[in-house]
Amino acid sequence: MLVGVLALQGAFAAHELALAECGVQCRQVRVAADLDGIAALVMPGGESTTMSHLLVTSGLFDPLAQSIADGLAVFGTCAGMILLAAEVLDGRADQVSFAAIDITVRRNGYGRQLDSFEADIEVPKLESPFHAVFIRAPKVERLGAAVEVIASHEGVPVLARHGSVFVASFHPELTPDYRLHSLFLQEV
Ligand code: GLN
Repeated sequence: MLVGVLALQGAFAAHELALAECGVQCRQVRVAADLDGIAALVMPGGESTTMSHLLVTSGLFDPLAQSIADGLAVFGTCAGMILLAAEVLDGRADQVSFAAIDITVRRNGYGRQLDSFEADIEVPKLESPFHAVFIRAPKVERLGAAVEVIASHEGVPVLARHGSVFVASFHPELTPDYRLHSLFLQEV
């Protein structure tokens, strides 16, 4: 299976390592032609406003939006979650998103004092907690009825899916634990 990693900016290299550990082949996705033949795509953490800008200037936004609409499986982590959300609060006025999952997220929603933190989160689909790293993470403030919450932290969803669109507000690629990448790949 060939899995793309959006490689315009951000923590894409760590995702490539995690996916390689899961035994799949990876391709860095930077332009529309890179979408050909991929079975799934990971959108990494980083800076969503920069990624938004690069998605538009590279011409990748529209073909990728079409691929997602056609059912491409996508896993967006942190900034990637912001890019997939239906509504983004505290974004830049010109920031674009794919609106692929019906959630509202607030950029940097965990506040300045808690810019970054780590927490062991219970994921019912896994046998033991997952150590989650949150870095200037988006906070989910609204969830559409069709969205399935896979895990929450202090009552706030942090891992969710709608069909083949998965989002995490933390960075599963920054811990040497590839169970969430595997969970995503099982659905592809
Ligand atoms: N706050 C960043 C943004 O708005 C996301 C942070 C991250 O991906 N670690 O894009």
